[in-house]
Amino acid sequence: MKDQSRRDFLKHSLQAGAASLALSAPLLGTGCSTPSSGPVDAPAVQTGKKFQWKMLTTWPPTLPVIQDGPKLFAQSVKEMSSGRLEIQVYGGGELVPALEAFGAVSQGTAEIGHGASYYWAGKIPAAQFFAAVPFGMNPQQMNAWIISGGGLELWEEIYAPFNLIPLPGGNTAIQMGGWFNKEINSVNDLKGLKMRIPGLGGKVISKAGGSAVLSAGGEIYTNLERGVIDATEWIGPFHDYTMGFYKIAKYYYYPGWHEPGTNLEFFINRPAFEQLPSDLREMVRNAAARVHYWMLCESESRNNLYLQKLVKEENVDLRPFPSEVLEQLRAYSAEVIEEVVQKDAQSRKIHDAYTAFRHQITPWADISERLYYTENL
Ligand code: CA
Repeated sequence: MKDQSRRDFLKHSLQAGAASLALSAPLLGTGCSTPSSGPVDAPAVQTGKKFQWKMLTTWPPTLPVIQDGPKLFAQSVKEMSSGRLEIQVYGGGELVPALEAFGAVSQGTAEIGHGASYYWAGKIPAAQFFAAVPFGMNPQQMNAWIISGGGLELWEEIYAPFNLIPLPGGNTAIQMGGWFNKEINSVNDLKGLKMRIPGLGGKVISKAGGSAVLSAGGEIYTNLERGVIDATEWIGPFHDYTMGFYKIAKYYYYPGWHEPGTNLEFFINRPAFEQLPSDLREMVRNAAARVHYWMLCESESRNNLYLQKLVKEENVDLRPFPSEVLEQLRAYSAEVIEEVVQKDAQSRKIHDAYTAFRHQITPWADISERLYYTENL
């Protein structure tokens, strides 16, 4: 957030905090275990008012790192607030089906959720640009756009009609291309393929003649094993190893052209957030920021260790997509994005902002980061 907008945010939060506390005081009891006996505008820090929230995630309850992040968030908020804000974390399917978390938090069934914004493309096509764009920006670049390049403000704008406030909530690191039981030697090999692949990448697979299936993480293994799907992508080597896909798929393709660094998210029910005093709101934002960085670091630190285990211990056949396949997928990606933005003005606006930011930063990346990889510096 820019300095000025940060100052505006803090100022706004302080004003809104006082106002919402005054307004909500007669309704005490909603989500609070210790009713205040003080004056209606007393700071909650003095009254010790406590809040209890529920968080719904879209992830399998035992998924490491990505489900651990929301738990770390809850623990961090609890400790920072000395127990004034306690958050119970539920994995996908524990309270509501994984892909219903957005609607449930929007309606106030729970106060906060954690997921990836491309899961909500059916409701908000423009949301996809805040998760992953095929052949798009990498994690570092996504962070720069969302945090410092105006991305978060646009994201807030598109979630506002749903009573939701988004916050960046982790990044998966660059993903892998996926698990297949047949070789992909040309784009024709994608024809008729039923693949679990979300977001814009899924539309690209459909354009290539395959069919894209969106399913939550907990269902993928069984679907692949039973032949409901022929192929799947998931995340990167560490997470894919823990899902056990190597037991039921032969080929592991790279790169993850469809998800070059997927940005994850917290989404918060706005009325619930506005009931918090300003210090608790700032703790929520700070805990989210901590988790956002932590997840990317965990994945980067583990991915190669698990890639080696997959190849050396599990004899996975690791393959690059042929360059002609990648070239064709890139062309299809451009067509898919053009179709999305032609149909939806909001998508056009977000995509234009995404693209302008990318063009603005790429010349610097070309003479800095890129050389470290291509020249083996
Ligand atoms: Ca993925």
